[in-house]
Amino acid sequence: MRKSNFTLKNNQRGALTKDLLVLIIKVSLVIFVTEFLVMVSLDAASINRSIHRDILDALLLVGLSAPILYQLIIKPYIQSTQSAIAQTEAVQNSEEQLRLVLEGADLGFWDWDIPSGKVIRNSRWANMIGYSYDEIQHTTQQWTDFIHPEDRQKAWQSINDVIEGRSLAHKIEYRMLHKDGSIRWILDQAKVMKRDADGNPTRMSGTHNDITERKQIEEVIAESSLRFNRILDNLFAYVALLDTNGVVQEVNKAPLDRAGYRREDVVGGYFYDAPWWNYDNQVREQLIAAINAAKQGNSSRYDVVVKMGDDLVPLDFLIAPVHDDTGRIVGLLPTAADITERKNLELELQRQAHLDYLTGLPNRRNFMERGEIELSRTQRYENSISILMLDIDHFKIINDTYGHQSGDLVLKSVAMTFQQVLRNIDIIGRLGGEEFAVILPETGIEKAIEVAERLREKICADEVELPDGVKIRFTVSIGISALIDKNSNINLLLNKADSALYKAKQAGRNRVCW
Ligand code: GH3
Ligand code: MG
Ligand code: MG
Repeated sequence: MRKSNFTLKNNQRGALTKDLLVLIIKVSLVIFVTEFLVMVSLDAASINRSIHRDILDALLLVGLSAPILYQLIIKPYIQSTQSAIAQTEAVQNSEEQLRLVLEGADLGFWDWDIPSGKVIRNSRWANMIGYSYDEIQHTTQQWTDFIHPEDRQKAWQSINDVIEGRSLAHKIEYRMLHKDGSIRWILDQAKVMKRDADGNPTRMSGTHNDITERKQIEEVIAESSLRFNRILDNLFAYVALLDTNGVVQEVNKAPLDRAGYRREDVVGGYFYDAPWWNYDNQVREQLIAAINAAKQGNSSRYDVVVKMGDDLVPLDFLIAPVHDDTGRIVGLLPTAADITERKNLELELQRQAHLDYLTGLPNRRNFMERGEIELSRTQRYENSISILMLDIDHFKIINDTYGHQSGDLVLKSVAMTFQQVLRNIDIIGRLGGEEFAVILPETGIEKAIEVAERLREKICADEVELPDGVKIRFTVSIGISALIDKNSNINLLLNKADSALYKAKQAGRNRVCW
């Protein structure tokens, strides 16, 4: 490694000592010549004195004046020279230390004299990009040429920001072109070291740090996290990643898009405070309990309704702890699937289990359940209640004459007539075949007869148009029973109404009996 900028020149001290001797001899010669001339001019007559005597006088004078000369000139000179040497040594020692530090830290060094444009660099600066120290020029242009063309502007921008006072320090990562054609990432950091009287920077020094490996690792991490996020964002399911405190680190696109929330509305905050959950305190509390369980290592799975924009959406929700290789819990992973369709299907099945598929009326079981509830309510408040049993007359003939599908149309038209004539509180049921029943709450027998008559008359008057255009008419027979006994139950009332219906059939059909 070349040391030219930092090496101590040990022959400097010798050169200064030599300079000092020459000075003493010169001073002695001047004194000697002066003395000689004085003596010659004062005593020209005694020119015949021996030359030895003059020399002795001169030497005597030199001897006498030497201590004065030493005190006045030589001693201060020696002292100032020694302090200059000490200062030079100190500077060179600190430069040597700096060189060792930079070498130890594997840092490239640069020191730019701004007015002259000259840049001093160390060999590591050059080695970092594959060159020897002697191969590089000591100019700023050399630096510019080595920077990746796409990064040149921003690198100079950072330098100019410091020079023009917009920022205090130059700190930037950019790419440099290596001699072998590869790219090295450099962290360049520098500060202004000297300014002129007007405060303008005149010297700037800094270091280069090769951060290529770190950059490559960062790129790999960024690439894999991008791939991970892309997978997450294309997932149908809702996924988030929480830290161990329950703070959202990541969330995929699906639940954000579905609800119209932005990522920044959710990431960085507590998961239970996110708008999916915090619309309802119970929902939020349930989630907090599940998060606490996950922190302890326990997963929770439950169906929950969350707020997605204006909609309430049912989810199959799971929150589980995430462990590292050592088994430590490093995060929490909530996942969820929208189960709206499943819930709708469940509701539909439930509905179908209670309703008659053809007419949409409550089936026998549902009718009996609702009837029991209504009857006990009536008994509690000592109200009246009546039941109608209705059977289509000669329905078999309709089926046999016009076909089974026409029979179905007739059944549907009876159900429609019920809905037109009866009140909302009346409970209608298709008990089976062409047999229907109606519970009339808060209705005594007289009123029930009236209602039954109205039904019978309307059914008798209405025509049902079949698909082939044929219009048919039919009649019904109705039996009525009313609550007379506090201990009665729905089966008893139905049986009584059935008996009345039988009576109506026996009496010639198309009539109401009780
Ligand atoms: P009555 O006046 O004595 O009541 O005579 P009816 O013919 O109405 O009585 P019956 O019990 O002999 O006949 C009932 C018929 O209803 C027999 C059955 O095939 C038919 N039926 C039962 N359920 C359905 C259905 O869902 N659709 C159709 N189209 N017919 C049905
Ligand atoms: Mg019948
Ligand atoms: Mg019947």
